[in-house]
Amino acid sequence: MADIYEIKPGMRRDAGASPEPDASTAEAQETLLETLSHDLRTPLNTIIGFADMMGQEILGPLSNPHYREYVDVIATEGRRMLDFINDLLNRKRFENMKRTEHGFRQAIELAPDLICVARDGAIELINPAGADMLGVWPASELRGRPFTDFVAEADRGHFRGGMESLTQERLRIPMTLLRHDGSVVEVELAALPYQEPEEPEAPAEAAGDAVIIMARDVTERNRALKAQATREEHLRKIMDTVADGIITIDENGIIETLNPTAEAIFGYKPGELIGSNVKVLMAEEDASNHDHYLARYRNTGQRHIIGAAREVTGRRKNGSHIPIELAVSEMRFSGRRLFIGALRDITERKENEERLRDLATRDPLTRLPNRNLFTERLEHAIEQADTCGVGFAVLFLDLDNFKTINDALGHLIGDRVIQLAGQRICGCVRGQDTVAHLSGDEFMIILEGMDDEVRASKIARDMLKSVAQPFKIDGREVFTSASIGVVLYPKNAGSIVELMRNVDTAAHFAKKRGRANFQFYTEQLSDDARRRIEIESGLRRAIENDELSLVFQPKVELERRRIVGAEALLRWHNPVLGRVPPDEFIPVAEETGLIVPIGSWVLRQACRTAAAWTAAGLERCHVGVNLSAMQFLHGDLAGEVQGVLKEFDLDPGLLDLELTESMLVSNADETIQTLKVLKDMGIHVSMDDFGTGYSSLSYLTRFPLDSLKVDRAFVTNLPDDRDASAVARAIISMAQNLNLKIVAEGIETESQVGFLHALGCQVGQGYLFSPPVDNEAFIGLARTSATAFAARNSTKGDKGA
Ligand code: C2E
Ligand code: CA
Ligand code: CA
Repeated sequence: MADIYEIKPGMRRDAGASPEPDASTAEAQETLLETLSHDLRTPLNTIIGFADMMGQEILGPLSNPHYREYVDVIATEGRRMLDFINDLLNRKRFENMKRTEHGFRQAIELAPDLICVARDGAIELINPAGADMLGVWPASELRGRPFTDFVAEADRGHFRGGMESLTQERLRIPMTLLRHDGSVVEVELAALPYQEPEEPEAPAEAAGDAVIIMARDVTERNRALKAQATREEHLRKIMDTVADGIITIDENGIIETLNPTAEAIFGYKPGELIGSNVKVLMAEEDASNHDHYLARYRNTGQRHIIGAAREVTGRRKNGSHIPIELAVSEMRFSGRRLFIGALRDITERKENEERLRDLATRDPLTRLPNRNLFTERLEHAIEQADTCGVGFAVLFLDLDNFKTINDALGHLIGDRVIQLAGQRICGCVRGQDTVAHLSGDEFMIILEGMDDEVRASKIARDMLKSVAQPFKIDGREVFTSASIGVVLYPKNAGSIVELMRNVDTAAHFAKKRGRANFQFYTEQLSDDARRRIEIESGLRRAIENDELSLVFQPKVELERRRIVGAEALLRWHNPVLGRVPPDEFIPVAEETGLIVPIGSWVLRQACRTAAAWTAAGLERCHVGVNLSAMQFLHGDLAGEVQGVLKEFDLDPGLLDLELTESMLVSNADETIQTLKVLKDMGIHVSMDDFGTGYSSLSYLTRFPLDSLKVDRAFVTNLPDDRDASAVARAIISMAQNLNLKIVAEGIETESQVGFLHALGCQVGQGYLFSPPVDNEAFIGLARTSATAFAARNSTKGDKGA
């Protein structure tokens, strides 16, 4: 064996011809194997290579777990086939090698790995694969070259102690070979002492200086391993830094890996959870089901735990619960099935959701259910009552003098009263009942399953008593009381709308009966109270809905029958209620305080109109505006009047404010002050409806007035009724003594004019002249009256002016 084997591809089949028949069979088999090996190796390697690339997702993501499984099978089976072929070939070769040196040679020739015999470190024999690996061709070129010439500098240490030391190594040593062209090959190298095949009995030491070296090219494999390691490192880094927690468990629920985020979410130390069952991270109920889930998953392949994110409850190390969003996916890893859970602590999101729900359903002041939640509960109660046949009660509780508390003590104390009242009301009901705070000082209560009046009355009475106890706020005692309306479902109402309307009616009636009491809804309550409520709720939107208007009733100078001005009278037309007379809605507006904004609207509108009269050529035509007591008490009336006059550039002397006696009585000193300011501005002030109130002359002297309007009640029966005539006469003479102008209201006949004029009354107002008319009609009347007056004046000749 002194030759270097060099086998050219074409020579292969001729190369091992043997004369013996069994030898030739063996040879045929071997040739077949070699052919198979050669022809299969390349396609198999290609297949395996592709499968690996797919597995590493170099060719694109492998999202479907089934595909990954499939790819794994292809790679594994491909490798198995390759190994099998190699194995068969090797076995055959070694059988042959034992028989013939020729076979041995052939085995070496055909081996895919480097096989070389080195004596004293110099290459003596090398197979073609080896020559190829070292990049030297033909192989004969290598004879005598030191093997270490082809070993990378860093790995030469392995050869320091001579080749023999290498043979001590029982393992394959990874090292780098240097090819002839300077490129490198990564190999695994093994060395054995070499025995000449011709002299198998020769003692080992005789061949001590010859070794057989085998090296396998593992560049590709190393590259793949490195790529894999890099990928894993990369993944680990991602896992460490992602905001989501990531936990991998095996098929039995044992935690294999988890990232720091996951550890932090559950409050564990790094590494502490590895090897534990994932159940320790679950709320007790989920944990008890988990084994069952996994078993079902293993046995039936049910995929219900895999898929889109869902909300679960986790358990921290300290036992506290935590809301978690979890997405589980399945992964095949080296033939094993793992589950990867990506999870996120959604405490904050949950809290936000809760806050939003709270905002939408709770009153911020009392934390009690608001109108939305109340309506929801009411709908639920109706549903419940309709299915179970047991009704319920709804109570509407309204604090009686809350406005006064607010005005007198301020909003902060008012708010405290509302909060405390809410707490006391809650103290009177059972757990299943609802106490809602709808607005201001109004509470709604649903008493579930309570459809008899006796029990509902008891609770209403408890509430009245409880709210009537003084509230201690900031060291002072605040007193209030409540009025309650009660409605039973389904006895008193069949729908939410009806329920709400009737309970309102009942509460209103309770207030009307003197407050601090409760009232069940009954049919007869409804008509009056409902009308009043409809008026009130309609009035609340009357201004913004543009439902108010003014009409003007001329005031006529009796002497000359000339229009000198008009009284502005308010009209309200509501789409539902139609025309509501002022005698009906003004008292409601006064009770509810709505008269303040409505009165401002009237004042502004009247002044604007009067200014337009002047512009339209009506000479010194003044406008009368009715005022309510409340307008004196709220805000700065004088300032408001001044502002309006300025806005429309109206002469203050053309504005006539009509007040009633009751107004002067209630807040005399303050009213006098305001009136003085108004008078100083040049505004005219009239006492309206004179004779119907206190009518004390001495009292009247205290007020700075310009005129008295004699109430229609006295005028109507003139002149035939002797009592009426006497009173009219007295009033007029009193007024004259006080230097007040007299205006008579409600004049319907000429005889009334004659009588009043004779007594000294200068101005009259009434249907005889004109009913209240709209502005356009009034302007027409005023113009005609001026013309008629002028005409009459001219016929009367120089008597005029
Ligand atoms: P008032 O101030 O005494 O107004 C006169 C009322 O008598 C008006 O009724 C008017 O239409 C009516 N009237 C006038 N001439 C005659 C007549 O010859 N015969 C009869 N039978 N009635 C006559 P109206 O417009 O229904 O107003 C009723 C009351 O409503 C007013 O009484 C006044 O107290 C109140 N009111 C009207 N407008 C306003 C307003 O803008 N502000 C305030 N605070 N009250 C108003
Ligand atoms: Ca009036
Ligand atoms: Ca009047």
